Amino acid sequence: MLHNWLEACHGYFPKAAQFFAPERIVLAKGSTSSIERKTLIESVCSVYPNADIDKCLDTAHNRVDLQTKDPLELHLRGKRTLVFGEHKSAVRLSSEEGNTCPNYWHFSPYGFCPHSCHYCYLAGTQGIRFSPTVKIFLNLEEILSEIDRVARELAEPTAFYLGKLQDGLALDPLTGYSRALVSFFASHPYARMTLLTKSAEVTNLLDLDHRGNTILSWSLNPAEVINHFETNTPQLHERIEAMKACADAGYPIRAVIMPVIPVTEWQSIYDRFLEKLLIQVQLERVTLGGVCIYRAALDLMERKLGKDNAISQALSTGGERCADGRARYPKSLRVEMYGHIIKKIRLLRPDLTIGLCLEENSVFEALDLTESIGRCNCVL
Ligand code: SF4
Repeated sequence: MLHNWLEACHGYFPKAAQFFAPERIVLAKGSTSSIERKTLIESVCSVYPNADIDKCLDTAHNRVDLQTKDPLELHLRGKRTLVFGEHKSAVRLSSEEGNTCPNYWHFSPYGFCPHSCHYCYLAGTQGIRFSPTVKIFLNLEEILSEIDRVARELAEPTAFYLGKLQDGLALDPLTGYSRALVSFFASHPYARMTLLTKSAEVTNLLDLDHRGNTILSWSLNPAEVINHFETNTPQLHERIEAMKACADAGYPIRAVIMPVIPVTEWQSIYDRFLEKLLIQVQLERVTLGGVCIYRAALDLMERKLGKDNAISQALSTGGERCADGRARYPKSLRVEMYGHIIKKIRLLRPDLTIGLCLEENSVFEALDLTESIGRCNCVL
């Protein structure tokens, strides 16, 4: 069975991924161990004829040396480096502590991403800090076999989330993986996919028989926030167009508005944004969240933007270092922002399910939202 859906992306011809122009392509451990892997690498390399190609077949995907120790330079070089490798523990159960998030299954056919969101929490995580390159893992068959094994053991509909440690679609024009993934989940009795992206490149998805087993979710913010904090990403209107196309193709569509950012006049900015979004896209769920950032990622952001930015200012005026080790806005600001946004959503879509991401019980209580705990983006 597993080979059938892989055929869905065999013979796929890569297209350049918007927002990604690698200068160096590294073939790490495991990347040339089969004809299929070599073929995919060759075809992706043909899209970037000017990139330097390095064979480092004894090096694990997360140990590629970028020849600098400066965190900002490391980050910038990483975003211009594509690594092919294999990921032997790509399917995992999350281990959330200190917040209300349920633990959930997630998987990684990619690592990190080519976009440059200044607040990106991944930039501060252990797995990324040493070698923050953009990664394509070639052992997709193995990854899906593991999902199959886990899902059959659980024997009930279970979401597997693509988007925790990467953008779920940003590299899809290169790999065509979505064609295999959607087909796999469509035919599985228990496994379902939830996918989070900022990408607007959805052509690969539109003709697939998904059977509702793939839930597509877009990470969104007002254009004013995108322009300042999410460089090298699609514009808001492009993401909304992609959402509409996928909704027309019958996919369940969700939105994640995270991090909400208290830019000047944020109330009217978020109001206009919600009007645009909720009128144009029939969402089945929306999830809100604030900044949740580790120290290393915050330092990186401040080296790019300086300390005089809306996130740093909000964190420095009573921001909290929470039980899960992440820095957050003061609780009063989170409640104020969520409360304002929820009120607007209720006006436009009274029936819409609203979740909060990585939040604490007391915040749900302050918003009279405790029934929503566990009804957020990554799960069914
Ligand atoms: S899209 Fe997500 S993973 Fe990529 S830079 Fe932005 S926040 Fe980070």
